[in-house]
Amino acid sequence: MKIKVARCAGFCFGVKRAINIVEGALRGLKDGEKIYSLGALIHNPQVVEELFKKGLRVAARPEKIKSGTVIISSHGAPAEVLEEIKKKKVQLIDATCPFVKYAQNIVRKLKKDGYRIIIVGDSAHPEVRALNSIAGKSKRSKKLGIISQTTQSKVNYIKEIQKILNKDFSEVKIFNTICSDTSKRQSATRGLLKDCDLMIVIGGKNSANTKRLWQICKESGVDSFHIETEPELKKGWFKGKSCIGITSGASTPDSMVKKIIERIRRF
Ligand code: SF4
Repeated sequence: MKIKVARCAGFCFGVKRAINIVEGALRGLKDGEKIYSLGALIHNPQVVEELFKKGLRVAARPEKIKSGTVIISSHGAPAEVLEEIKKKKVQLIDATCPFVKYAQNIVRKLKKDGYRIIIVGDSAHPEVRALNSIAGKSKRSKKLGIISQTTQSKVNYIKEIQKILNKDFSEVKIFNTICSDTSKRQSATRGLLKDCDLMIVIGGKNSANTKRLWQICKESGVDSFHIETEPELKKGWFKGKSCIGITSGASTPDSMVKKIIERIRRF
C-alpha cells in the first residue's frame, strides 16, 4: 500500500503568521494579564486547545472582554465588532491574514465606487461576516462587483459567477480573491485523486477550506474520510486499497499529518 501526501500539507502562510503573532504576545504576557482571541484563532480545535494551555483565551463576543489584549483571528472581524473593541481599554492585535485584508480592501473600494457587491462564500463564516459588514446594505446599482471567500473552490466560484452573469447588469467586475494557498491545496488534492483509491482529509470539522477539500474528494467518487486526529482512523477503510492520498486543511499542523501517517503505516 502506497501513501502519497499532498505537496501543501501543514499550516498555510496566514495561519503560521497568526500563530507566530499569538505566541509572541503570550511570551510577553505579564502576571495577571489576559490575552483573548475573538472567536477561535484558527479553525482547528487541537491547535486552539494547545494555545489555551499556553494562556490564550477565546471570547465569543467583545462584551465578554473587560481588559487585556484582544487578537483578531486570521479570518478578520466585522467592522462593528472592531469599533466596539476600540472603545474599550484593551490592546488590539490584528492577525487578519493579508489575503483576507486584500479581499476586504476590494470590498471597501467597490462600496466607495457605488457597486452592488456579491460575496460568494459561506455567509456564517467569520471571514464572510466581516466582508459583509464592510459591504453594508446592498445598493440598487447596475454596476456589480463579485468577490469570493478566500477558501472557496474555483469550480464553485465559476459556477456562481455564471449564474450571476445571466442577470441584467451594465458593468460587472470580478475579482479572484481565492488565496494562492487554497488554490495550490485544491489542485494538489485533485492530483492525488488521479492515483489514489482512498483519500484521508485532515483538518478541523469547522474549517471551511478543509471541508472544501473533502467535498472535492467526495465529488470525485474516490472513497474519502475527513478526520481531525489519528484515533478516528479505522483499519477497515484501508482493506483492499493500494494507494492512500493524504491532504490537509490550512490550519492543520504538520505534526498531526505525521501522526496520522504513522498510524496508517502501523495498520
Ligand atoms: S487559507 Fe489563505 S486566506 Fe486563509 S489564512 Fe491561509 S493563506 Fe490566509
